[in-house]
Amino acid sequence: MLRGLNTRLDFAKAKLLLSIYGGDEDGVNDEMYAALATAESDGFHDGIAGRDMPALYRDEQPLAFFWEKGQTAGIEHQIMSDCPQCQDRDVLICPVHG
Ligand SMILES: [Zn+2]
Repeated sequence: MLRGLNTRLDFAKAKLLLSIYGGDEDGVNDEMYAALATAESDGFHDGIAGRDMPALYRDEQPLAFFWEKGQTAGIEHQIMSDCPQCQDRDVLICPVHG
């Protein structure tokens, strides 16, 4: 299975529904939010794992945007997981990461 294929298909379906029904039809916005939330979640996990953006996200700006948002958070999460002061229970506020 190509990485991101299901999300790309969900996104395409949501985009089609939005173009026909607009955001007023029941559930149409939810489908778009779900696709974008999945892209963000993929970005988070890819950021931790050090993987590149799935090729199938690159030419859909909203998917790329949310993937990158998740990637930034994932990288930050990984850095803080590796930071001794962030992980030290006796340090209330890490001097580097707040
Ligand atoms: Zn830290």
